[in-house]
Amino acid sequence: MSQSFPTISDQKQPQAWAITPNSQALAQLAKGIWDCAVQTNQRPLVVLSTAGPLVGVRAALEQNRPKDLPSSIAFLPQVISFTDWLEAAPGAWKFPKKQTDLERWLSVFVNLRKHKTLQAWFKAESEAGAWGLAQAVIDACDTLSEAVIPQLQGELNELLQTHALDTETWLKKVELVLDQAIAKAYVGLSRNVVDEESAVLLTFWRYLSSVGDPVVRKHLAMAAHMQLAKSNAENQHSNVRPFIWVQTADPKPVDQELIDRYLNEYAQYAPVVRVDLDWNSVALWSEALCGLDADGHIASANPAEDSQVSSNIQANRNDDWRLLAARRFEELAWAATKSIESHLIAGKKNIALVAQDRLAARRTRALLSRLGSALRIRDETGWKLSTTRAAAAFDSWLELIRAPKEGPSASALLEFLQNPHFDLPYSLNKPPEACIGLLAQLEDILIASQAKSGWETFLMAIERANKYAASNGGSPNEHLIDLIKFVRRLHIAWQHLSVDCSSAYDLLQKNLKETGMAGRLESDAAGKQLLEVLDSFNLSSGVYRNLKMRLPEWLSLLKTVIEEATYEEAGKEAQATLSILPLSSTRLRQFDAVVLVGCDEQQLPAFSEPPLFFSDTLNRYLKSSTVAAQYVQQARDLSQLLVSCEQVDLLWQSKSKSGEPLRPSAWIQRLQTQLKDWKAIEVKPETYEGKSQPLQMSVSVPDKDLAIPVTVSPSAYKALRDCPYRYYVSSLLGLRKAKEFEEGFDASLAGQTLHALLKTFFQALKTEDEKSHSPIHDGADGRRQWMIEHLMKCSENEFERLIAGDARVLGTLRDWQKQIPSFVDWQIQRENEGWRYHDAELTVGFTLSLSDPDGVQRDIRIAGRADRFDIHQSDGNAAAVIDYKNQKMKKIVDRAENILDDPQLLIYARAASENAVAAHIPGRIVSQAEWVSLRADLDKGGDKSIRAYAVENMPELMAEFSEQITQDLNTLWARKPMQAFAPDSVCQYCEARGICRKGMW
Ligand code: SF4
Repeated sequence: MSQSFPTISDQKQPQAWAITPNSQALAQLAKGIWDCAVQTNQRPLVVLSTAGPLVGVRAALEQNRPKDLPSSIAFLPQVISFTDWLEAAPGAWKFPKKQTDLERWLSVFVNLRKHKTLQAWFKAESEAGAWGLAQAVIDACDTLSEAVIPQLQGELNELLQTHALDTETWLKKVELVLDQAIAKAYVGLSRNVVDEESAVLLTFWRYLSSVGDPVVRKHLAMAAHMQLAKSNAENQHSNVRPFIWVQTADPKPVDQELIDRYLNEYAQYAPVVRVDLDWNSVALWSEALCGLDADGHIASANPAEDSQVSSNIQANRNDDWRLLAARRFEELAWAATKSIESHLIAGKKNIALVAQDRLAARRTRALLSRLGSALRIRDETGWKLSTTRAAAAFDSWLELIRAPKEGPSASALLEFLQNPHFDLPYSLNKPPEACIGLLAQLEDILIASQAKSGWETFLMAIERANKYAASNGGSPNEHLIDLIKFVRRLHIAWQHLSVDCSSAYDLLQKNLKETGMAGRLESDAAGKQLLEVLDSFNLSSGVYRNLKMRLPEWLSLLKTVIEEATYEEAGKEAQATLSILPLSSTRLRQFDAVVLVGCDEQQLPAFSEPPLFFSDTLNRYLKSSTVAAQYVQQARDLSQLLVSCEQVDLLWQSKSKSGEPLRPSAWIQRLQTQLKDWKAIEVKPETYEGKSQPLQMSVSVPDKDLAIPVTVSPSAYKALRDCPYRYYVSSLLGLRKAKEFEEGFDASLAGQTLHALLKTFFQALKTEDEKSHSPIHDGADGRRQWMIEHLMKCSENEFERLIAGDARVLGTLRDWQKQIPSFVDWQIQRENEGWRYHDAELTVGFTLSLSDPDGVQRDIRIAGRADRFDIHQSDGNAAAVIDYKNQKMKKIVDRAENILDDPQLLIYARAASENAVAAHIPGRIVSQAEWVSLRADLDKGGDKSIRAYAVENMPELMAEFSEQITQDLNTLWARKPMQAFAPDSVCQYCEARGICRKGMW
């Protein structure tokens, strides 16, 4: 039975009233509030301890408005949440300035610098960890202040009477009182904490507490409200409004004392009604009925209470409580989606999804998104702002700032440049048409040259690509250089900045403008909220504006603040609304149907993370929230939800990740013992049957409209030999995988550098040979010495820029330098056999003519770039081709064994012989070909075989190769089926594997 609203008396004491938290609770509360208005003939002030039911209470007041109200109370009574009421305190503008979260974190940072005792504590933490710890320290300090400040209430009240003083003097007084109180409390509290951790925390508390703390402001606000009530009461002309306090959730003991004191005092001036929740007919478990005992432990129920609970269960039993068990996570999300769908089909408009299991709720939300705009989804559990695309884009810029002075990694650079909020044409000040494909081109160059990090490396890679394009009929793209220089300029500005809070903020804002990100973020919902969060970093008018810190510290502070921020989705009108919310938010709210996911024994009840510093006992001593209190509160919330909502689906996953059975929450099991016929329904997804055909080895017949390339590089021919299907995918269809950078430094750009420096060196050697007085002619030793010294120097010079871009390349240089003496020995040995270096890096090719099946004559050009040609001194017809390999000899030997499948050297040999003028060796035939390793095994001695490997039986091989390539190309042009077959060693690194589906057949 619900209690009737009390008759207002002038006892100068708060009057108690309780409402039953069932489906009629809001209507009952509204009627009571109107009753108070009518009895007192005044518009009461209603303050709710939590904000959740605010909208519901206002709506209920409107619906239950009594007829024929006198005009003085016709307006809806004012309903406000406790937090808003504090903010609305009279004269709040005079209160000490409210510290933002950021300012409070910075105060931890400043105190750490000042006090050695505190520093040791933070030492082990990374920057991000340290800011996280700072947050925990602040929370703990607030708990301590909550316990201590109430003792100051009297003094604060007195101080407010002197509020008329000038603000500054008044604030000084408040500060003094606070300092004295903290010093006194510190002594008392120190006796109660024994461990070092809490002692350090107390020290923090001493240093951190300030008049700008939220706890102090709360007490000042309450004192100011009281002050106003008092002066209104003394002033005969103004009435003091009745005050209705609605306790929507169990308060912490410290809050309970605070509000009790306030209500008692207020009752001296006006009627006060305190509204509590009466669990007598609603509690479904004894803890929900009995709550906590005086010591803060869960009270045990007596037989009368037990039978009350039993009768509550029977009385409130509802056939529409459904208990649904799903075996796997996906099935759980699917079942929750189906439940919500069924409620929507039944015409329910206001549905709640209680996210006891947050992951399952997220997944359900994703599944529901296919319903489109007909369903409005309001996520009250709070998306993290950091999970939005805008935050990811911003983060990519922070990663770039964080990069060392040599420059970022190529992946970090591309991540930033490819973010959709970066405005490329705006940044380069170029028309959008000029920027089309620019980033794809940059990515191609960086990947092809394996330029992995460093501004110099990127520039070198682009310059090389531009040079190559210029000399091969392509068009170099200068915008790429401009782009790298643009980002480098922004990055360097951070390297030169001495970071203080205000200059770092200014530079960051400047960056956002210059990159066009500010504009694009502004036009994005999440981006806009991100910019607002960044605004909180504008400390230019605060005390911390000149606070200096290291760049990584500042950046991780920025990241931590963004990590804490939540993203609020804009609401849209829709046919139905789904609210995703925690259990606590369902309190005193009405829904047409509720779906609760995660009702297993591990997730219901769920306890908030235990505070980092205080044990449960200490929390009890500090009158703060305890595990027992949270347990009782959740039992009450769940009772209230089950009793007040018509349709509740309770879902849980019946098997854990490890395959262990998971039971429903103990609360559900206890209900089941009393409700014998309440059984869990096992939900199974609908299954569809079908028969699949086993996959066959992939074969493709090139379509007659598919163009076949008329130029073939040695590597493309190798692909054709390795696996025709692979050639079909890569060369005919032109598909390629989006490549990623592998970990560690790959030698590609370094490989190119090695080739370039060898060319420079041998050209210099050729010139030196012409000089008659050169030390090169001072016998074998002199020549050797000269060659070693020059090759060393050449290597240093060529690598210099590469090392500036990425210091890790230094290792590659040093490895190569160790090879130089042995390489020179090999060269001298070769010279002794009569060979002389002639030219390097030449593009050579030959043409094959064939008729396609339609009888059309086709000229196919087979061409590539040969590393080096030598000529024989005594044989005027002989020439040799050399291919440098940055590989170990073992690989070269393997290559030689399969030379017909990888006939790069044979291609060069035929090309140079057939077209000797283009190869700069007129009148000569390439009769020798060899591979030279640039990574020989030095500990295997100075034998020539450790470095070079010659192709044997050249004439026979050349004939065989020529026949083979003609046949292969004829087959290709005949568009015969191209089959997927290759040894596993080839397939292992094949990009077309996902297309040919090797492993499935
Ligand atoms: S995975 Fe093997 S069989 Fe398949 S296309 Fe690549 S090389 Fe050919």
